[in-house]
Amino acid sequence: MSQDNRDLLTALRACVGDTHVLTRDRHANDMAAFEQDWRKRAKGEALAVVCPASVDEVAAVLRACQTHRASVVPQGGNTGLVVGSVPDTSGQQVVLSLKRLNKIRAIDAANLTCTVDAGCILQNVQEAAAEAGLLFPLSLAAEGSCTIGGNLSTNAGGTQVLRYGNARDLCLGLEVVTAQGEIWNGLSGLRKDNTGYDLRDLFIGSEGTLGVITGATLKLYPQPVARLTAWAAVPGLEKASELLGMAHQNLSASLTGFEVMNQFSLSLVDKHFPQLHVPFWQQTPWCVLLEISDAESETHARERFEHLLESALAAEVLTDAVVAQNIAHARQFWHIRESIPLAQAEEGLNIKHDISVPVSAIADFCAATDRALQTYMAGIRLVNFGHLGDGNLHYNVQAPEGGDAADFLISHEKRINELVFNAVVQFGGSISAEHGIGSLKASTLPRYKDKVALDLMRAIKQSLDPQGILNPGRVLA
Ligand code: FAD
Repeated sequence: MSQDNRDLLTALRACVGDTHVLTRDRHANDMAAFEQDWRKRAKGEALAVVCPASVDEVAAVLRACQTHRASVVPQGGNTGLVVGSVPDTSGQQVVLSLKRLNKIRAIDAANLTCTVDAGCILQNVQEAAAEAGLLFPLSLAAEGSCTIGGNLSTNAGGTQVLRYGNARDLCLGLEVVTAQGEIWNGLSGLRKDNTGYDLRDLFIGSEGTLGVITGATLKLYPQPVARLTAWAAVPGLEKASELLGMAHQNLSASLTGFEVMNQFSLSLVDKHFPQLHVPFWQQTPWCVLLEISDAESETHARERFEHLLESALAAEVLTDAVVAQNIAHARQFWHIRESIPLAQAEEGLNIKHDISVPVSAIADFCAATDRALQTYMAGIRLVNFGHLGDGNLHYNVQAPEGGDAADFLISHEKRINELVFNAVVQFGGSISAEHGIGSLKASTLPRYKDKVALDLMRAIKQSLDPQGILNPGRVLA
C-alpha cells in the first residue's frame, strides 16, 4: 500500500474512530457486503469502508478524501440496481456508508413534515410517521433495507407515485455535505421558497455525484381512512390502459396504485414462491393490482371501487376481479407484486430496463418491442411488469427457456439494450424512469440524452466537484 493511502487511512480513523474504518487486512469478511451490488452484477474492491455517525464526521471524511484526492462512493442500503453504490475494482475507492446516521430528528405534525438522517431505513420512516398518525407514502419493495438518502439520490419512485409523486416530490429540504467537506443546511420545511436556484432539486437524483445527502425534511400526509386493494385479470395491455382511464375518471385522486404484471412475471412468482397463490395468472395474459385510498369511509370506498370494477367487467375491459377482504388479504396481493424482482433473481441473471413512455403509448410500445425482440431471438422471455399508472415499466428480458443466463447477458445485453432504448425514444420515452444511470448506463446515456443537457450536467459536476472525487464514472462516463 502506498504511503499516501496509509496516511489517508490514518486520517479517516481520526475522523470516525478506529472501529468504524473497515480495511481488507482486518475486516475482509465485513467489507464484502459493501462491495457487492444487489443484483450481483459487480463486485468491487474498496480501499476502506468508512461509517461516520454524524454530519460533522461525514464532512471530516470528505475533507480527508479531498486532501488525498481519494474517490468516495456514498452508500445507503446498497439496494440500487445500476451499480452506483459499490466501489470499482481498483482497491483505491472509499465507500462512505451512511448507515450509522439513522435518527428520526423531528416530526412536525402541524407542518406535516419530518426531518430524518439520510441513513434512516425507509420502513422506519414510514413507521415513525404512522406512530404520529401520519403517512409517509414512499413505498417500494426494498423498503426494509433502502435508505432515505439512497431514495433521494436516485429519486426513487415505487408504488404510490400516481397519487403522491416520487421521492423528489416528497422532499422539502436537504442537508448535504459538499465534495470539499462543507455542510449546506437546507433543511427547510417550507412549501414555498423562491429565493434563487433550487439546490435541493440539483442534489436529488444526482446518485452521489454532486454531494453527500446527510439529512432530509420530508412531506407527510394524513393517513387515509380506508385503503382498498383489488386484483384484476385483463385480456391485454391496451385493456389495462383502458382500465386505468376508467379508474382516473371514476376515482380521481383516490387512485393511489395501478400496477400491471404480465403472465410470465407471475408464472415466475408461482414457480419460485408457490405459497403465495397468485390469482388468475394461468387464465389471463395480464393482471392489474389497483389500490384506492379514501378520506371518508370504507363503505364509501368499497362502493366506488366495486362500481368501477363492475363497469369494467360489463365493458369487457377486465375478465375477472377480486377486492381484498381485509388488510392481510391486501398485503398478500402487494406481496405477490413485490416478489416479482425476487422471483426473477431466482430464475437467473437478466437484462433489466426501467423505462417510461407516455401511458397513451405503452400498449403500442410493448407490441412493437415484443415483436422486435422475438425477431431478434425466438423464445426470448419478457418479465414485463410495473407502474402503468406512471407510464413506467420494468421491461426485463430473460434468456429463452433452458438458455445459459450468464452467457445470454454477455453476448446479447448490448444489442438488446439498443433495441429497447431505440424503441423507447421512438415512442417519446426515457431509458430510466426509476433506477437511474449508475455505472451500468453511464456510457449509454450520451446516445439518448440531449447534448445541451449533457453539457450542462458536466458543467455542474465540474463546478461542484472539480477534483471529481464523488462517485466518479457514475451518471457521467
Ligand atoms: P444505494 O443502493 O446505497 O445507493 C444508490 C445510489 O445513491 C448510489 O449511486 C449511491 O452512491 C447513492 N447514494 C446513496 N446514499 C446516498 C447519500 N446519502 N448521499 C448521496 N448519494 C447517496 N427503485 C425505485 O425507484 N422504485 C422501485 O419500485 C424500486 N424497487 C426496488 C425493489 C427491489 C427489490 C430493489 C432491490 C430495488 C428497488 N429499487 C426501486 C431501486 C432503488 O434505487 C433502491 O431500492 C433505493 O432507492 C436505493 O436506496 P439505497 O439506500 O439502497 O441506495
